[in-house]
Amino acid sequence: MSASAPPFSDEHDQLRQSARGFIERELTPHAQRWEDERWFPDEVFPKMAAQGLLGLKYPECYGGQGGDYLHEAVLVEELARTGSGGTAAGIGAHINIATPPIWKFGTEEQKQRYLVPAIRGELIGALGITEPGAGSDVAAISTRAERVDGGWLVNGEKTYITNGVRADFIVTAVKTSAEGGHSGISFLIVDRGEGVTSSKLEKLGWHASDTATIAFEDVFVGEENLLGELDGGFKLIMANFQWERLAMALGAVGAMTVAWERTADFARQRSAFGKPLSRHQAIRHKLADMATSVHTCRCVTYDALRRFVGGEDPLKEVTMAKLLTQRAAFELMDDALQIHGGAGYMHEYWVERAARDARLGPIGGGSDEIMREILGRVLSL
Ligand SMILES: Cc1cc2nc3c(=O)[nH]c(=O)nc-3n(C[C@H](O)[C@H](O)[C@H](O)COP(=O)(O)OP(=O)(O)OC[C@H]3O[C@@H](n4cnc5c(N)ncnc54)[C@H](O)[C@@H]3O)c2cc1C
Repeated sequence: MSASAPPFSDEHDQLRQSARGFIERELTPHAQRWEDERWFPDEVFPKMAAQGLLGLKYPECYGGQGGDYLHEAVLVEELARTGSGGTAAGIGAHINIATPPIWKFGTEEQKQRYLVPAIRGELIGALGITEPGAGSDVAAISTRAERVDGGWLVNGEKTYITNGVRADFIVTAVKTSAEGGHSGISFLIVDRGEGVTSSKLEKLGWHASDTATIAFEDVFVGEENLLGELDGGFKLIMANFQWERLAMALGAVGAMTVAWERTADFARQRSAFGKPLSRHQAIRHKLADMATSVHTCRCVTYDALRRFVGGEDPLKEVTMAKLLTQRAAFELMDDALQIHGGAGYMHEYWVERAARDARLGPIGGGSDEIMREILGRVLSL
């Protein structure tokens, strides 16, 4: 199964080869240890930056590579080869959800102060929207920013924030009017400092990433850190959802591809009842179904990507790609685990981790139910 297919060109294939080489050399060999240690080192960011991998889609004037979302798509798919959902998630949060709003909506001064060092891997970013009382219903956030001389005082709590412990800055959704809601939310770039405290959360998968609760207690944020328009934050949330969901679909396609390759190899090598597992019809059919699922997910995702980079607003196609791939990835990992038998349940086998890591997909970045609600609206149901 070649990854090279429209909309990708030879140039993207070259990037794919070099990104894969870097990932398999510098990240994959450490994946198990980082998962066990519940942390991947911050040095991964400058290392990736040195390869140009933190700024693929950003203009050269900010230290980026001057590419576009297709280049980023290649990296997101290849990051699955890390074999640590948590590491891929930490890097992904930085490049796919924390820095894009600054690039799109930031002032020149904000880009110099945050985007440029973020592309160099010197500052690490997080996106803070979810709260204990508001997840799917993002308009219900209650973290509030009160106007004071020269800026705002922020009070409240965010939760399940990727890079929530290590992040130097948090692109944070806050209520800037008493009512909040769709027309009363703004974004502030909050620096880690006085009044900001993080607590790391234990979770089912993505162990190497620092998912955290972040409390803000009388945190002063200067007015120069308002990102985008005052009370215009809901638009900003919506603007990045398409890419975030597309990136999740691409990540799932990457992870499914690797899982299929490894499981097929295992089934060819492992014997039972005098012949390789892959020669037993039930297993062979399962592998055939898995390959079909990978291909279907890739086609649907690449179609959405093609439309996205072509300038369409492919809400329907991106939503379908997110919905299809996240559940399919989880199901494929479960099949892969089953084919591994008892070994699949063991910590030392990659598939045990892959199955746990894949469970987040149907929840994060907008759950399956929310994807169906969006499709219900798009399809006028
Ligand atoms: C590991 C991890 C990393 C994350 N990283 C980040 C991050 O970096 N930044 C960030 O801001 N957030 C992050 N999140 C939060 C994530 O986006 C939310 O968990 C997700 O949006 C769901 O919100 P919730 O957990 O509050 O669930 P809820 O919104 O409380 O939903 C609970 C259940 O009800 C369902 N439901 C809700 N509304 C409806 C409806 N209208 N109709 C039918 N069913 C509905 C949901 O689908 C879900 O099954 C992360 C979460 C996890 C687990």
